[in-house]
Amino acid sequence: MCRHAAWLGVPRALASLIHEPGHGLLRQSYVPRLQRHGMVNADGFGAGWYDPARAEPVRYRRTVPVWADANLPALAQTARSGCLLAAVRSASAGMPIEETATAPFTDGPWLLSHNGRVARQAVRELADPGDVESTCDSAWVAAAVFARLRAGRPLGDTLAEVVTHAGTKDPEGRLNLLACDGTSLAATAWGETLFLNLDNPDDGVLVASEPLDDRPGWQAVPDRSLILASPGGVRVQPL
Ligand code: GLN
Repeated sequence: MCRHAAWLGVPRALASLIHEPGHGLLRQSYVPRLQRHGMVNADGFGAGWYDPARAEPVRYRRTVPVWADANLPALAQTARSGCLLAAVRSASAGMPIEETATAPFTDGPWLLSHNGRVARQAVRELADPGDVESTCDSAWVAAAVFARLRAGRPLGDTLAEVVTHAGTKDPEGRLNLLACDGTSLAATAWGETLFLNLDNPDDGVLVASEPLDDRPGWQAVPDRSLILASPGGVRVQPL
C-alpha cells in the first residue's frame, strides 16, 4: 500500500480517515504530497474496522481506485469503531493487481497494511507458503506477521522482529507496517514516511503515512522506529 492510516481511540467513522479530512486517503490516492515511490494510489484500496457484532474485524477491499467506489462514502460514514485502518494502493512493479494483494490483510483479530517493497525471499522463511494469499510481497509479509502473532508474540514485538529480519536480508527493503487488533495499534517506519498525531490524546491517536490535514499537530516519526499505541498511551522507540 502506498498510503495508509489508522485511528485508535473513541469511536469514529471510517470516513475520518478517507473522506472527511482535507488530505485524507481519498485525496492522497490522487495527489499524495510526501510519497517517494509512485505518483498515484489507484491500484485498489481497503479498510478494516471492529464491530461488537463480530469477534473479528470487518474488512472491505477492492481493486478499483478509492474514488471509483460510489458505495464507499455512505459505508465509511456509518462504519464506526474505536480502531480503524485504511489504505490506498500503488502496486509495486511486477506485483499483481487483485483483491488478495490488497491491504488490509487479516487473520483472527488482526489487520495489517504494508507500505513499501521487499524481496519476497527476505520473508520466505518466516511464512508458510500455504498461508500466503497472493504472490504480492505484502501478502508474504502479512503471512509472516500473522504466523508470529498466532504463536502468541505481542503485536509490537512481532512487527519489530519481521521488519528487522526482512530489512537485514533485503537492505533495499521498505517496510512500513501498520497493524492493529481492536484495542492496540503498532506501526513501523522503515524507508517510507510516517506521521503521528496526538493533538487530542484523551480522544485517541492517528497514525498515517502523511498528514491527513493541515493542522499543526502532526509529528514526523523518525525512520527505523516502532510506534506502539494502546489505551495506556503511545510510545515511539528505535528499531
Ligand atoms: N509492495 C506493495 C504492493 O505492491 C505495497 C506497495 C506500496 O507501498 N506502494 O502492494
